[in-house]
Amino acid sequence: MKIDLHAHSICSDGTTTPAEVVRAAKDAGLDVVALTDHDTIAGWEEGSAAAQETGVSLVRGIEVSCKHDGISLHLLAYLTNPTGQLFDELEKARVSRESRAQRMVERLAQDVDLTYADVLAHTTPGATIGRPHIADAMVSKKIVADRAEAFDTYLHSGSPYHVGHYALDPITAVQLVREAGGVPVMAHPFAARRGRTVADCVVHDMVDAGMLGIEVYHRDHNDAERERALAIAADRALIVTGSSDFHGAGKPNLLGENTTAPEQLERLLAAATSETKFVDAR
Ligand code: AMP
Ligand code: FE
Ligand code: FE
Ligand code: ZN
Repeated sequence: MKIDLHAHSICSDGTTTPAEVVRAAKDAGLDVVALTDHDTIAGWEEGSAAAQETGVSLVRGIEVSCKHDGISLHLLAYLTNPTGQLFDELEKARVSRESRAQRMVERLAQDVDLTYADVLAHTTPGATIGRPHIADAMVSKKIVADRAEAFDTYLHSGSPYHVGHYALDPITAVQLVREAGGVPVMAHPFAARRGRTVADCVVHDMVDAGMLGIEVYHRDHNDAERERALAIAADRALIVTGSSDFHGAGKPNLLGENTTAPEQLERLLAAATSETKFVDAR
């Protein structure tokens, strides 16, 4: 059993459709894949149809944007109900992401040839807009070679062009995911190469609030960071996951490059209390 619990589609900042993510999962030899677009469930329906078609099992998920003391962090939410207060909050985040992208483009346009229309041309209608879409527009305009260069040069959180967006605090996020019957799992908790990360005590507070799992195996974790996550998992009896964080052509991450053990998936499925079913296509 090969299980990858973190992947993105064009419904957020991936570059392939939800159906293509599932088909690519099949090609990568995966038995189970989770679709976890940033702040949206727009890809769930298409993903589950593709799951039935291909025989790959789908875990419906979301990667919820959170912010603690100005530090951005991501909470994976699996198998939540599709309605409720969590979704009002996600809508707020998506709306805020639009004005934030506009403001970032205004700042960038003072120095480079870029318009908001250029950015919109790289998004799918209804998708959660993020800095990767600004990056893609900058690649098209030959301002940078790829997303990585755009982030390193213009879009990183310390850049003068950077603007933040509304995001839930992680404690509320954990509570709302549980209220929606879902399973909250902290994504790449200590990946310092992505930017500032939170202290262990914040992770413990999230566990106290009802968080059930932690993503340990992720390419952005070095050995020490992976061990740190494993230690908290052992201490707090958390579900341990591993995943690729696939973004299509937007990142080098390959489906199945990190995986989750079958018994950990069983724990995750057993912890969900929602009406949202695991699409078990086997
Ligand atoms: P945002 O959601 O707008 O704050 O942008 C963050 C997203 O940008 C993350 O979810 C990553 O997928 C993506 N990202 C961050 N750094 C890079 C990078 N160096 N190359 C490609 N994508 C990146
Ligand atoms: Fe992303
Ligand atoms: Fe993430
Ligand atoms: Zn992700």
